[in-house]
Amino acid sequence: MAFIKIHPLIDNGIKQAAENFAGGTLQCHCASNKVVVSIKAQTLHNHACGCSQCWKPDGATFAVIAVVPRESVTVIANADKLKIINENTAIQRHACKECGVHMYGRIENKDHGFYGLDFVHTELSEQSGWSAPGFAAFVSSIIESGAPVSKMDAVRARLNEVGLPTYDCLSPALMDVLAANTAKQKGTYQA
Ligand SMILES: [Zn+2]
Ligand SMILES: [Zn+2]
Repeated sequence: MAFIKIHPLIDNGIKQAAENFAGGTLQCHCASNKVVVSIKAQTLHNHACGCSQCWKPDGATFAVIAVVPRESVTVIANADKLKIINENTAIQRHACKECGVHMYGRIENKDHGFYGLDFVHTELSEQSGWSAPGFAAFVSSIIESGAPVSKMDAVRARLNEVGLPTYDCLSPALMDVLAANTAKQKGTYQA
């Protein structure tokens, strides 16, 4: 099978999380006056994402993205270079105006099932030890960004080969969080 490029963090071998890792900083791709974001927590639910909205590095088919509590995220340098890509999406992606890198995605709707969690790309960090990608989400959506339909079996086979179960929405655990939130709003929630 021809080598299928997924994302450098996956193609170059998935690095496992370090025990007791407590966070670090993310930097944008600008050569100078970088936007720097401090994250004082380990990431959770790190995964490959095939949607067309997540930022990905040049040549990657998937983004790699994780969540952290929003209280742990602080912009510590060049905050004036950030802009929100689209204020109408559930996840508001705060990106560097110059290099285009998304520094964090934030949900402002308090009724959303993921409210309180920010979305971050830990490949922007010089520290190692962040949580490892554990699944691939929105795999079918890569077709919308131009991946050939005929390559989808090979893409899913490659993801499985590196140990990432593939889903065409989010993982069961995250879909359950969203459905439980809807159930709470409808009054049908049972623990
Ligand atoms: Zn930048
Ligand atoms: Zn995505």
